[in-house]
Amino acid sequence: MADNNKYEEDKLITETGDSYKDRVAVIDKKGKRVWVYPTKPTMGKYQKWRLIVGWVILALFFIIPFIQINGQPYFLIDIVNRKFIFFGTIWFPHDFYIFAIGLLSFALFVVLFTAILGRIFCGWACPQTIFMELVFRKIEYFIEGNANKQKALDKATASAEKIFKKIAKHGVFIIVSLTVNFFVFAYFTGIDKMAEMVFLRPGDHYGPILGFMLISLAYYINYSWFREQACTFICPYGRLQSVLLDENSLIVAYDNTRGEPRGKLENGQIKEGNGDCINCGACVRVCPTGIDIRNGLQLECVNCTNCIDSCDEIMDKINRPRGLVKYTSINSLEKKEKFKFTPRLAFYVVVLTGLLSVFAIMIATRSDVEANILRARGSTYIVNENGNVTNIFTYKLLNKTFFDYNLEMRTMDHTGEFKHIGKDSLILKPEEVLEGTFLLEIPASELTGMRNDIEIGLFSNGRLIDVVETSFSAPINLKK
Ligand code: SF4
Ligand code: SF4
Repeated sequence: MADNNKYEEDKLITETGDSYKDRVAVIDKKGKRVWVYPTKPTMGKYQKWRLIVGWVILALFFIIPFIQINGQPYFLIDIVNRKFIFFGTIWFPHDFYIFAIGLLSFALFVVLFTAILGRIFCGWACPQTIFMELVFRKIEYFIEGNANKQKALDKATASAEKIFKKIAKHGVFIIVSLTVNFFVFAYFTGIDKMAEMVFLRPGDHYGPILGFMLISLAYYINYSWFREQACTFICPYGRLQSVLLDENSLIVAYDNTRGEPRGKLENGQIKEGNGDCINCGACVRVCPTGIDIRNGLQLECVNCTNCIDSCDEIMDKINRPRGLVKYTSINSLEKKEKFKFTPRLAFYVVVLTGLLSVFAIMIATRSDVEANILRARGSTYIVNENGNVTNIFTYKLLNKTFFDYNLEMRTMDHTGEFKHIGKDSLILKPEEVLEGTFLLEIPASELTGMRNDIEIGLFSNGRLIDVVETSFSAPINLKK
């Protein structure tokens, strides 16, 4: 069934009726893998745009690790050191709640995006598709030739040419897998550290090297052998399609009413009574997942649009309108309905808007310095000779930026005098945590009871950085 290189007329339908519904395309009746040999896609309008989008994504993937702001990476997910940098802004585990809202918003965005645009991500932006189709498949075509030649080479007995081509292909695959993994690791450690590791003696860091090699091996196995099975059997997003898609979602589909009954051309013409499908098999031969789109929506389809471009080319040749295979929705295809904004989509939009609003507020109000100021444990108030009251506080300040801060504390709604113990100034280095103790004296006239809510502002060069609420204790019968 997935022998899409040598397409057999109506094989799926004549063999077992609806056999394509009983098993996935790349597994035969005995449960054995059927190798897919997709032919080079036609350079149609979708293929051109897919290449542009794919090359831009690939370029970003390789360039971003080199981008640094103030000597720090633009993106870093350093799980070991719990340091996370997104778009040049550093995030700490304390910011996890913002991160969680961001992830939740992203998950809902994916649901909404899929409900409207279907599996467009799979075909256009998924790393599995991009690396497979734009990198590894292109290397394979370059070394082994198009699908027919690849198949012939695999069937041929061992020869110098076959051995050379196989070694060349897998050699390049291994180099590319190592390179891709190098850049993936750069997102987790920083490109500088990866470059340093290259020049270290392997024996000095055999643990990371082993991990690096094993993951590179996984990439190599995936792109050289596992391929479309990652989308069909493993990818959770692929498995979720049946719940995310509805009749209004955009899918790649074959226009059954226009195409059927299908049949070969007779004397270069469509036979009287036949539909536009001339049963050429071009749409099947280019499919990287080995399916026949004419059988309807199938879980293996990653919306790569190869079949659209191939069929459009055939339609051009036989002077029939393009779009026998096209981007459409089930409702549009079967009921000729336009896109409908359903209550389900409205619900997603409302919830997503709410989550994004919360996320935006959290980002906007996230201060550069996180401060915790509490009355020292076990301490009590001190009534001074002048009648003012003093409390002892401890503080913990975290600099969440890449800049130095020379901080100053001021009471926001009281007249307060600070005495920092053991420190002349509060200089906070990038990513540094500073802890200490201070005495705060407030005039009795400004205190109203045993517990007084006060606000302490953190200023740097006269600019307010953060305001911390805490409490100040005083005697109940304070003389004013
Ligand atoms: S490419 Fe078009 S005409 Fe050819 S088999 Fe597929 S649907 Fe039919
Ligand atoms: S059916 Fe068409 S869109 Fe779907 S994976 Fe195959 S070629 Fe791509």
